[in-house]
Amino acid sequence: MLNPDAALEIVLSSVSRLETERAALRDCLGRVLAEDVRADEDIPPFDNSAMDGFAVIADDTQGAARDNPRRLEVVAEQPAGKMTTQAVTPGAAIRIMTGASMPRGADAVVVVEDTDSQAGDVVIYREVSRGANVRRAGEDVKRDQVVLREGTRIGPAQMGMLASVGMTEVQVFRKPRVAIITTGDELVDASERPGPGQIRNGNQYSLLGQTLLAGAEVSLLERVGDDKEQIERALSRAAAGSDLVIVCGGVSVGDYDYVRDVLAKLGEIRFWKVAIKPGRPLVFGHIKDRPVFGVPGNPVSCMVTFDLFVRPALRRMMGDESECHKVVRGGVTEDLRHKPGLREFVRAVTTYSLPTQGRAGEGSEGVYTARPIPKRGSGMLSSMVEANSYIVLSEETGDVPCGDTVEIILFADV
Ligand code: AMP
Ligand code: MG
Repeated sequence: MLNPDAALEIVLSSVSRLETERAALRDCLGRVLAEDVRADEDIPPFDNSAMDGFAVIADDTQGAARDNPRRLEVVAEQPAGKMTTQAVTPGAAIRIMTGASMPRGADAVVVVEDTDSQAGDVVIYREVSRGANVRRAGEDVKRDQVVLREGTRIGPAQMGMLASVGMTEVQVFRKPRVAIITTGDELVDASERPGPGQIRNGNQYSLLGQTLLAGAEVSLLERVGDDKEQIERALSRAAAGSDLVIVCGGVSVGDYDYVRDVLAKLGEIRFWKVAIKPGRPLVFGHIKDRPVFGVPGNPVSCMVTFDLFVRPALRRMMGDESECHKVVRGGVTEDLRHKPGLREFVRAVTTYSLPTQGRAGEGSEGVYTARPIPKRGSGMLSSMVEANSYIVLSEETGDVPCGDTVEIILFADV
């Protein structure tokens, strides 16, 4: 049985980045940049006011206080998006709004709350220093600076940044096309009422969700029976028309588990069985140069093996270089039984709490706490529904007592 790290190595070393293409920014959420992006100008492009108030010469406010107000003449108004030709000269002020360009001559802004307006003048109750309430040109981003690197996954903030530097079209990696084949004579479509001995094809949808959430697209969604010819036909078609194939079920040692035979016939098997729980019967191989994952049919095993092996493969194909899993450490709230040998992924609800009042400010950080979900069977999908994380019990670990620190993988939202 293969160690999961070694298995992941094999998977990652046998997939490569796909080609790139140009895409409209509005279609780029969840996609991965295939170019470094530089700022075409400073952000912000000009010095501007951070507040509503009055643009002044800081020296004119020296000593100003509630009981020692200063009076300046308001010579113009500068709303955002407008450019006054007036300059601020000693003894004068310009009424200014947040985001408006700083008028010539002014070097500070007095916020409106520290002023009163009186007959064309402004009365100032607070001294400001040079630069107060002014946002400098380029203080966020400097012109020509790389704002986003190749390999960055585009989330909402990245979309905003791309728009801010005028990139309405970006070079991104092509989306992997994924074929999802579910196998099993007991399966009926989700829209059907199962007859005796039948169940609905839930995994088709959890795999669909995982695939889409990973940023890939689904090129084939097919269900076949436990039948060698059907599986062979589906696998050939899948390998021909997609970049990665997932075939679910039929990878164990049961009498009707044909997926390995078919994969060996059409291509080659790189490994079968990984030392993980759930998900041990995972098979991985190729048909031509298409990676093929045979994931176990048990609904939790199916999702876990996707998370651990398929998603990293898809990310590599998409050019995504960020960490695949968000791993934290935290205390476990129950005793956990575990036999050494397999790396187990226990579904858990992990919460983060800030330090208690008394300890705050001492540099202490918040803590993660993982509550294992009692349903640990690999067939119990409700455990995945409830969970937001896996507790990872290493192959060396035995029973883990309540309160011990464990490694936790937080579920990805992308
Ligand atoms: P298998 O991996 O084919 O041996 O299936 C293991 C278990 O998972 C069996 O109880 C199957 O009925 C169940 N199973 C297989 N495929 C699916 C599926 N697509 N949706 C839900 N359950 C499944
Ligand atoms: Mg089966």
